[in-house]
Amino acid sequence: MSINQTTLELGKKRSIIREIFEYSKKRASEIGKENVFDFSLGNPSVCPPKEITDTILELLKTENSTLLHGYTSATGDLGTRTVIADSIKERFNVDISANNIYMTCGAAASLTISLKAVVNEGDEVVVFAPFFTEYRVFVNNANGKLVISTLLSDTFQIDDKDFEGKITAKTKAVIINSPNNPSGVVYTEETIKKVCAILEKKQKEYNSTIYLIADEPYRELVYGGVFVPYLMNYYDNTIVCYSYSKSLSLPGERIGYIAVSPKATDSENVYLSVCGAGRSLGYVCAPSLFQQVIKKCADCKVDVSIYKENRDILYNALTEYGYKCVKPDGAFYLFVKALEKDAYAFFERAKNHEVLVVPCDDFGVFGYVRIAYCVDKERIINSLPAFKKIIEEYNK
Ligand code: PLP
Repeated sequence: MSINQTTLELGKKRSIIREIFEYSKKRASEIGKENVFDFSLGNPSVCPPKEITDTILELLKTENSTLLHGYTSATGDLGTRTVIADSIKERFNVDISANNIYMTCGAAASLTISLKAVVNEGDEVVVFAPFFTEYRVFVNNANGKLVISTLLSDTFQIDDKDFEGKITAKTKAVIINSPNNPSGVVYTEETIKKVCAILEKKQKEYNSTIYLIADEPYRELVYGGVFVPYLMNYYDNTIVCYSYSKSLSLPGERIGYIAVSPKATDSENVYLSVCGAGRSLGYVCAPSLFQQVIKKCADCKVDVSIYKENRDILYNALTEYGYKCVKPDGAFYLFVKALEKDAYAFFERAKNHEVLVVPCDDFGVFGYVRIAYCVDKERIINSLPAFKKIIEEYNK
């Protein structure tokens, strides 16, 4: 067998979320879509802002089609990068320019490229469990070694003692995802300050450079004005991996960016390495039409009040029935303690009631399920009696 075994295995292994999604489609054809309470996928349910559709139509009518559909420079359209840098400057008070911004095909691309740009074979990359399952794949692709730090189980904030113990001379990067998938938790400023102090200390101790990679597709999805610290303001060696997939509900359009902090050690070379990593991975450039859309709509965002209403209905009802979960301040996920040790067994029991949730073992934590509440409000309301029956069945 001469083909690559790692990619073969990856291709063969279906993600649990995809499996559930396929099952959901099959079940819907049997009993009707309205009778299947599928909470598996993190696909935005809120429409993109009207400005986006208007801008697309306007661009198609008025702009030169070679600009809209041709290649841009590998780093991205200069005008778009300037708009993004200005927006970061204004919103977060960071002195950054277009030369620090690299346009990508969404957060997955931003992460793959950033990791490839900084990690050498055998370097360690620390993530916090629960974490987005694809981190395993991305770190592996960069020939790095995934190191897992566990969170405080009552709050799902970072456990600084555990984290400190996980940093070694080989640590090259730490990935922080806040608001978090799957917990919905936003790391507090206090937590972030502790993490950054540990990183500063460890860099000195090992005379090394450790990059903080901020995975931020959910930055704009926060409820009740919760503060999401901008990591460049707390730690110089920061690389922000941003995406418009969730903030503008454009996951299928594949658009985002990498922002390398101008204060990072050897920042210019880190940026050049990002360019080289993008090139070596064959990205060529981010979608041109959507770079033009972002140039005009960089500060738009979806109506987050719709997600907030969903969160409130679901969180209030589930906790009233007796389910245990941390109230999420952001993203569109509820991370719920399964009603038995084995999250898969709980998933099967819930499935008998046509409720589809995701067991979180692959997110690095056992005994929890994720409920993606980026669905129509009706689905949430109609699912509540089933959630009630499930817990009553367990309590019998
Ligand atoms: N990071 C996290 C934490 C995510 O939840 C996702 C997608 O759900 C991604 C990255 C990838 O996002 P994108 O669609 O922008 O590639």
